[in-house]
Amino acid sequence: MKITFHGAAQTVTGSQHLIEVNGSRFLLDCGLFQGARKDTYERNLNFKYDVKTVQTLVLSHAHTDHGGNIPNLFKNGFKGIITTTQASRDLAEYLILDSAHIQESDAEFVNKKRAKRGEPPIKPIYNQQDAQAALKNFRTVTYDQKFEVVPGVVAEFFDAGHILGSSITVMDIEDKGRKIRFAFSGDLGRKETPILRDPTLIHDIDYLIMESTYGDKNHKSREEAQSQLRKIVGEAVERGGKIIIPSFAVGRAQELIYSLHFMMESGALPKFPIYVDSPLAVNVSKVFRKHSEIQDQTAREFADEMRTDVLNFPEVSYVASVDESKAINDKKGPMVIISASGMAETGRVLHHLRNNIENPKTTVLIVSWQAPDTLGRRFVEKAPKVKIFGEEYKVNAHVEVISGYSAHADQSGLTEWATHLKGRLKKVFLVHGEPEPANALAEKLRASGIPEVHYPKMGESAEL
Ligand SMILES: [Zn+2]
Repeated sequence: MKITFHGAAQTVTGSQHLIEVNGSRFLLDCGLFQGARKDTYERNLNFKYDVKTVQTLVLSHAHTDHGGNIPNLFKNGFKGIITTTQASRDLAEYLILDSAHIQESDAEFVNKKRAKRGEPPIKPIYNQQDAQAALKNFRTVTYDQKFEVVPGVVAEFFDAGHILGSSITVMDIEDKGRKIRFAFSGDLGRKETPILRDPTLIHDIDYLIMESTYGDKNHKSREEAQSQLRKIVGEAVERGGKIIIPSFAVGRAQELIYSLHFMMESGALPKFPIYVDSPLAVNVSKVFRKHSEIQDQTAREFADEMRTDVLNFPEVSYVASVDESKAINDKKGPMVIISASGMAETGRVLHHLRNNIENPKTTVLIVSWQAPDTLGRRFVEKAPKVKIFGEEYKVNAHVEVISGYSAHADQSGLTEWATHLKGRLKKVFLVHGEPEPANALAEKLRASGIPEVHYPKMGESAEL
């Protein structure tokens, strides 16, 4: 059998691995490369192999850097099915349609500039119709259900604990009379993430493709992040102002809603309104509520006790319409507003920030990593003034940062998970990581007794 690493090779986005076995070809993931438009457009648009020769695709989870280029695969003549969990399919529906919208508006923006320069327009990588068409070709399986990928390859999903529905894929492969047990970690989560189950420890694997995003770092503990959240929100509620949290719509938003709900019910925080002001976060929360069967035991027990689902309680309002969003402005604090985008670059969160940033009662709470040159990063850097919609505002609000939330396993989590496979494991391929974290993790894995660890380049192939 042969693996070719067509994405997330020596970088963290665009997960895409082509497997060839017994004359069949299938893909593990088909994600979008993310980054500056000039670097990613061509790369996402064109595949490096004949897509028509690929029979099928197995999707590890719904994040756009893993499944976001699926519509383009169909556009290029792929006729197979996408196999994933039910929750991943439900999340992918919202994420892929959202991504189509972004592709369309990006192309529109670029074409305005190109028109001024007299250049021909570019096409979006895919549009809403392409996304809708791709979504009709999904097959869903549960975590304990084996399925045939191609003849000679039987796969099974195990909970990766990274986002709802995320999977580690284990494949039993018969290759010319040889039996191989082969696994793809997808993105691995952390233990004790609210709502999600811990990443599953798998067994008896010969070869492994594994992520390495945080291969050189250990996160602050989840417990510390939760106690920071309680303290910051508690103080802000006492001041009576609005607490604005720019947040990614998938995962982080639901984790915050759940944690605040839990703290209110346990008496750790008083009760106050929570507004979830992001259409995507509203839809994603629906998917979480629909799939309580794959939530962790604490979440299910809490739901039983409260006789409701964990993301639905009297204090929380899911805001979909623009009018409802504007109406939040006239309401007095204390309240929490969870709104996208996560780095405060676009989205409704900008309106809330603009309207409240000069009020000293306001709190801006940053809960995720902020890329350089984003408004979110300016807050992390404690900038005294910021620009929003082209106008300058004084930052009189309290700005707080919690760094202990991450959906990815850290160095010790990854090492512990992989060394559990020691003995039978012959070789690990590290993907989905920049060189520094991947090399640091490779050192750790070798030191803990894994015989061969390789960090493949983009387009590199390996014969097993
Ligand atoms: Zn992910």
